[in-house]
Amino acid sequence: MEEILKSLNLNSQNNGAWGAEEIPASSERNLTVHSPIDGKELGSVLCASNADYDVIVEQARKTFYEWRQLPAPRRGQIIREIGNQLRSKKQALGKLVTLEVGKVLAEGEGEIQEAIDIADFAVGLSRQLYGKTMHSERPAHRMYEQWHPLGVVGVITAFNFPAAVWAWNSMIAAVCGDVVVWKPSEKAPLTALAINKICRDVAASHGFPGLFSLVISDGPELGQRMAADQRLPLISATGSCRMGRSVGETVAKRLGRSLLELGGNNAMIILKDADLKLAVPSIVFGAVGTAGQRCTTTRRLIVEKGIEKELLSSLASAYKQLRIGNPLEQGVLVGPLIDKAAVLMYTNALDEIKKQGGEIVCGGEIVKGMPSDLYVKPTIVKAKKSMPIVKEEIFAPILYVITVEGLDEAIEVHNSVPQGLSSSIFTTSLQSAERFLSATGSDCGIANVNIGTSGAEIGGAFGGEKDTGGGRESGSDSWRQYMRRQTNTINWSNALPLAQGIKFDYSSS
Ligand code: NAD
Repeated sequence: MEEILKSLNLNSQNNGAWGAEEIPASSERNLTVHSPIDGKELGSVLCASNADYDVIVEQARKTFYEWRQLPAPRRGQIIREIGNQLRSKKQALGKLVTLEVGKVLAEGEGEIQEAIDIADFAVGLSRQLYGKTMHSERPAHRMYEQWHPLGVVGVITAFNFPAAVWAWNSMIAAVCGDVVVWKPSEKAPLTALAINKICRDVAASHGFPGLFSLVISDGPELGQRMAADQRLPLISATGSCRMGRSVGETVAKRLGRSLLELGGNNAMIILKDADLKLAVPSIVFGAVGTAGQRCTTTRRLIVEKGIEKELLSSLASAYKQLRIGNPLEQGVLVGPLIDKAAVLMYTNALDEIKKQGGEIVCGGEIVKGMPSDLYVKPTIVKAKKSMPIVKEEIFAPILYVITVEGLDEAIEVHNSVPQGLSSSIFTTSLQSAERFLSATGSDCGIANVNIGTSGAEIGGAFGGEKDTGGGRESGSDSWRQYMRRQTNTINWSNALPLAQGIKFDYSSS
């Protein structure tokens, strides 16, 4: 463990305030990080104070005035170097993610791969920040739009993707000409420190040490301060719906922009004609991957009547084969939950499920004899669509199975929750698949056919509707959110015609 930390320039005691310069953190609050794997202390971080934050934002603003003048393709060259640095540190960073948040090693490394992929995407994007040209209704006039950088972007991230979500935002924001101030989760500050240091060093070698700043605190206060800060035109916040409501409201009050990536309650519809050989492994990966702590985790299985018995028995036998244990070990597929509060959420939810008439098919308990008390059994519950708890996001591996009569009822149940992130259908019917993807089908930001709800690629725009917040990050045209649009009209004639044919000739009146 010590070797990993050392190779990533981390110490047992770290500073939590990094702007264009390292600011000795002055809050006098110390955040100690324990691995959920075995409870061992990984290190600690001295938290940034409000005053440190203010200095860092001022430095970031100064960097922005310079950075925005660098042509976008040259900004892209710097992001290319960052991608290469991340590539060379992928194993160490992936292991740190595993140590700090407990996801299995393949997923820890997968997260760093996502950061590398989005860096590659951003390099190409740096030559494609296109604006449209329109035909003016006035003779000898040219009309077009162009995109300019916004300024200092505040990025608030959740514990469960401690590296990738920051990279989705920051690689794109940087090629757009913005600079970034990051407030990571208090549950994953070491990954943030390591990744920020790598990216910051590359930026500093090109004269832009303030391109990526970092403020670490032991709670939400600095995030709240960012949300209220007029100097930050955009706040991109990833986390629970509760957090998103608070950030969204605060940013809206000052007429700023927010990009919200919040909780999900994702479902898969399994129709009678589905290929269960595809469906079963997708369900298991979706429901159990990252121990049910992904925003896109499959939480509800909506099954057409007639196949529920066969499906449940295949799932129960797949669940029996899952190895729960130390996520650093080969072959382990389920690691620990992040902390005691998460375990309590799991056990409380199970009590409530039973009260509301749910039937536990398998799992439903804490695993004994593990190196920490944070390991829980992935759980399958036979549930009714009327159970109120089914509408909540319980951030643990609990899968509800709900039986329905057919596609119409499946879509109605599917859309009956407040969240709207990811969704999928398993069917071999073209009609059913298209119906699910149509305007009368899934109401989510992501809708898949014969693929599960989790494991999105960076090339698409990622995000969800309703209580999930409406934001879109990562690929496609998500970059537009990090820029401001300007419409330009140029008159190259010797006359001054007005739009809509309006005459305003004061000399003849
Ligand atoms: P959380 O809401 O507890 O915390 C997320 C971040 O917000 C942390 O950095 C925290 O300090 C900060 N924060 C909390 N309250 C705040 C406030 N009032 N103002 C400003 N900042 C505040 O979430 P978590 O437990 O770290 O992560 C799990 C949640 O994140 C789940 O709901 C999950 O679905 C969601 N998530 C969503 C996505 C997505 O892309 N939609 C991705 C990952 C996680």
